[in-house]
Amino acid sequence: MLKSDGLKKGKNDLILVGIILSLSLVGFLIFKLTMKDGNRISVSINGEEKYSYSITDNVETDIITGDNGENKNVLIIKDGKAYIKGATCPDKICVGHRPISKDGETIVCLPHKVVVSVTEEK
Ligand SMILES: [Zn+2]
Repeated sequence: MLKSDGLKKGKNDLILVGIILSLSLVGFLIFKLTMKDGNRISVSINGEEKYSYSITDNVETDIITGDNGENKNVLIIKDGKAYIKGATCPDKICVGHRPISKDGETIVCLPHKVVVSVTEEK
Protein backbone atom coordinates (compact mmCIF):
# COMPACT_ATOMS: atom_id res chain seq x y z
CA MET A 1 0.00 0.00 0.00
CA LEU A 2 2.69 2.47 1.04
CA LYS A 3 4.89 1.41 -1.83
CA SER A 4 2.12 1.90 -4.38
CA ASP A 5 1.32 5.36 -2.94
CA GLY A 6 4.97 6.25 -3.21
CA LEU A 7 5.09 5.22 -6.87
CA LYS A 8 1.97 7.22 -7.67
CA LYS A 9 3.41 10.30 -5.99
CA GLY A 10 6.65 9.90 -7.92
CA LYS A 11 4.76 9.74 -11.21
CA ASN A 12 2.75 12.86 -10.36
CA ASP A 13 5.95 14.70 -9.45
CA LEU A 14 7.39 13.73 -12.82
CA ILE A 15 4.31 15.09 -14.63
CA LEU A 16 4.55 18.28 -12.57
CA VAL A 17 8.22 18.68 -13.47
CA GLY A 18 7.30 18.10 -17.11
CA ILE A 19 4.61 20.79 -16.97
CA ILE A 20 6.98 23.26 -15.30
CA LEU A 21 9.67 22.56 -17.91
CA SER A 22 7.16 23.04 -20.76
CA LEU A 23 5.90 26.28 -19.24
CA SER A 24 9.40 27.69 -18.84
CA LEU A 25 10.21 26.67 -22.42
CA VAL A 26 7.07 28.43 -23.70
CA GLY A 27 7.95 31.46 -21.56
CA PHE A 28 11.46 31.47 -22.97
CA LEU A 29 10.17 31.26 -26.55
CA ILE A 30 7.70 34.10 -25.97
CA PHE A 31 10.55 36.13 -24.46
CA LYS A 32 12.76 35.43 -27.49
CA LEU A 33 9.97 36.31 -29.94
CA THR A 34 9.21 39.51 -28.05
CA MET A 35 12.88 40.44 -28.13
CA LYS A 36 12.84 40.38 -31.93
CA ASP A 37 10.08 42.96 -32.04
CA GLY A 38 11.19 46.56 -32.26
CA ASN A 39 10.02 48.78 -29.47
CA ARG A 40 10.26 52.27 -30.95
CA ILE A 41 8.63 53.92 -33.92
CA SER A 42 10.92 56.50 -35.41
CA VAL A 43 9.82 59.09 -37.95
CA SER A 44 12.44 60.67 -40.18
CA ILE A 45 11.83 63.57 -42.51
CA ASN A 46 14.41 64.29 -45.19
CA GLY A 47 16.80 61.82 -43.53
CA GLU A 48 16.58 63.42 -40.08
CA GLU A 49 14.83 61.76 -37.18
CA LYS A 50 12.05 64.11 -36.10
CA TYR A 51 9.78 62.03 -33.88
CA SER A 52 10.05 58.90 -31.79
CA TYR A 53 7.25 56.98 -30.13
CA SER A 54 6.93 53.81 -28.13
CA ILE A 55 5.32 51.04 -30.17
CA THR A 56 2.95 50.45 -27.26
CA ASP A 57 1.61 54.01 -27.48
CA ASN A 58 -1.73 54.80 -29.03
CA VAL A 59 -0.89 57.53 -31.49
CA GLU A 60 -2.74 59.32 -34.25
CA THR A 61 -0.66 62.20 -35.52
CA ASP A 62 -0.24 64.29 -38.63
CA ILE A 63 3.28 64.38 -40.06
CA ILE A 64 3.49 67.72 -41.81
CA THR A 65 6.21 68.23 -44.41
CA GLY A 66 6.98 70.43 -47.37
CA ASP A 67 8.29 73.99 -47.55
CA ASN A 68 4.91 75.45 -46.70
CA GLY A 69 3.55 72.53 -44.70
CA GLU A 70 1.48 71.43 -47.67
CA ASN A 71 2.22 67.70 -47.29
CA LYS A 72 0.58 65.47 -44.76
CA ASN A 73 0.84 61.84 -43.67
CA VAL A 74 -1.40 60.54 -40.92
CA LEU A 75 0.56 58.14 -38.74
CA ILE A 76 -1.26 55.61 -36.58
CA ILE A 77 0.36 53.53 -33.86
CA LYS A 78 -2.03 50.99 -32.43
CA ASP A 79 -1.86 47.45 -31.01
CA GLY A 80 1.94 47.42 -31.34
CA LYS A 81 1.84 48.25 -35.06
CA ALA A 82 2.37 51.42 -37.05
CA TYR A 83 0.84 52.40 -40.37
CA ILE A 84 -0.07 55.40 -42.49
CA LYS A 85 -3.82 55.94 -42.47
CA GLY A 86 -3.90 58.69 -45.03
CA ALA A 87 -1.62 60.98 -47.01
CA THR A 88 -1.71 63.80 -49.50
CA CYS A 89 1.07 62.29 -51.63
CA PRO A 90 0.25 61.43 -55.26
CA ASP A 91 1.24 57.73 -55.22
CA LYS A 92 -0.28 56.64 -51.84
CA ILE A 93 2.29 53.84 -51.61
CA CYS A 94 2.81 54.64 -47.92
CA VAL A 95 -0.94 54.32 -47.28
CA GLY A 96 -1.04 50.96 -49.01
CA HIS A 97 1.87 49.58 -46.98
CA ARG A 98 0.94 46.90 -44.45
CA PRO A 99 1.39 47.76 -40.75
CA ILE A 100 4.93 47.41 -39.44
CA SER A 101 5.98 46.02 -36.07
CA LYS A 102 9.28 44.14 -36.48
CA ASP A 103 12.71 45.66 -35.93
CA GLY A 104 14.03 47.12 -39.19
CA GLU A 105 10.71 47.36 -41.02
CA THR A 106 9.97 50.69 -42.69
CA ILE A 107 7.22 52.58 -44.45
CA VAL A 108 8.56 55.11 -46.91
CA CYS A 109 6.72 58.02 -48.46
CA LEU A 110 9.05 59.05 -51.24
CA PRO A 111 7.15 62.16 -52.43
CA HIS A 112 7.19 63.56 -48.87
CA LYS A 113 10.63 62.17 -47.92
CA VAL A 114 9.07 60.60 -44.84
CA VAL A 115 10.41 57.35 -43.39
CA VAL A 116 8.62 55.56 -40.56
CA SER A 117 10.74 52.77 -39.11
CA VAL A 118 10.68 50.26 -36.29
CA THR A 119 13.79 50.41 -34.14
CA GLU A 120 15.17 48.73 -31.06
CA GLU A 121 15.78 50.84 -27.99
CA LYS A 122 19.53 50.81 -27.44
ZN1 LIG B 1 3.10 58.59 -49.54
